[in-house]
Amino acid sequence: MTDTSSDATLCMPIEPQWNDIREGVRQVCDKFQNDYWMKLDAASEYPTAFVNALTEAGYLGCLIPEEFGGSGLPLSAGCAVLETIHETGCNAAACHAQMYTMGTVLKHGSDEQKKKYLPGIASGELRLQAFGVTEPTTGSDTTQLKTKAEKRGNKYVVNGQKVWTSRVMHSDLMLLLARTTPVEQVKRRTDGLSVFLVDLREAKGRGVEMKKIDAMINHNTCEVFFDNLEVPPDALIGEEGQGFKYILSSMNAERLLISAECLGDAKFFIRKATDYAKERIVFGNPIGKNQGVQFPIARAYAELQAAELLVHKGAALFEAGRDCGAEANMGKMLAADAAWKAAEACLQTYGGFGYAREYGIERKWRESRLYQTAPISTNMILAYVGQNILGMPRSY
Ligand SMILES: Cc1cc2nc3c(=O)[nH]c(=O)nc-3n(C[C@H](O)[C@H](O)[C@H](O)COP(=O)(O)OP(=O)(O)OC[C@H]3O[C@@H](n4cnc5c(N)ncnc54)[C@H](O)[C@@H]3O)c2cc1C
Repeated sequence: MTDTSSDATLCMPIEPQWNDIREGVRQVCDKFQNDYWMKLDAASEYPTAFVNALTEAGYLGCLIPEEFGGSGLPLSAGCAVLETIHETGCNAAACHAQMYTMGTVLKHGSDEQKKKYLPGIASGELRLQAFGVTEPTTGSDTTQLKTKAEKRGNKYVVNGQKVWTSRVMHSDLMLLLARTTPVEQVKRRTDGLSVFLVDLREAKGRGVEMKKIDAMINHNTCEVFFDNLEVPPDALIGEEGQGFKYILSSMNAERLLISAECLGDAKFFIRKATDYAKERIVFGNPIGKNQGVQFPIARAYAELQAAELLVHKGAALFEAGRDCGAEANMGKMLAADAAWKAAEACLQTYGGFGYAREYGIERKWRESRLYQTAPISTNMILAYVGQNILGMPRSY
């Protein structure tokens, strides 16, 4: 008989957890209503006041251990923060990476690096919320990335380009994945990549240039160009050549936190759509009386519930120190799908008014579409499930 006693640690929450945190986050978010986001969206500006308010309330440092000045809370608390932000109609994308990018430093950094950076990241004095992995010519094929860091004497010299590096203009530090050994010289293509913690305060204008991308959402995302950027050896995280493994090992936490945002988005859209469907009278009846209006909302709700279970299971596995790759990836896909279905149902329920910016629906609709593509596209998750879980042939 299979011993399932170890699953005793995997108590799935039946009621929402972290209610105090949710309430506190809601109070912060209440001060940032749709007109705030609408103005920033139109001007393509960074939500500084919102990020400062969350920082001051301590939410962005919640996952950093207490010994480094954070709150030392488990992943599910971080999920509760991000889910609530999105449930209220706000957007955590401007700062969510401050919560999880530090995971690579915490897990693989030296004691000196942890002491030097984590307290500042916990207090918000230092912003580590940019990570440069994606490149224009290689995209999802990360091991083929072209940015290289060559050891020259007592330093690394970085040349290359990243794309879609979000928040980099609002970050003091950036986690950079670069090739330190040419791909032709390594046994496995995942070898020879290294992670650096680049101090942008020193690097800007001295080998690093940034160009904002005019995008469909206000995401503060950039192209970043490296031209003979000199990086000191103590910027290297962990062992040279092991960077791919380090980035991968932080991805489950990132996927689960992003899934929580998607759950929040789905809840926002379902609440908005339901309220509007009950209030809006057409042909003498509330539109929600029509099953053509009601059922897409009901289906989105059912799909949200299912996605939520898988995301909670992933977080419980993560907190128990168990492998959660499958749950984190599938949870992200299902939560992103639930959010998108809810977004579509909501926009359709609002009819023409869904297109009026003052209602905030079209902005959230555009924002929630992102999670079909980033931080990992749906196809890559399906490839992971097909290949890594079900053992079918690899497409790449
Ligand atoms: C707003 C925004 C913010 C982002 N922020 C960051 C960031 O901060 N840092 C960072 O490093 N990156 C960031 N990204 C990049 C993001 O992670 C990538 O866009 C995403 O991983 C997809 O890569 P790509 O755009 O290069 O698509 P490509 O790799 O070019 O793929 C294009 C399409 O082809 C599909 N495809 C490719 N290969 C296969 C295959 N073998 N089987 C099936 N389908 C396949 C993909 O799923 C995708 O739909 C961001 C992107 C956006 C849009």
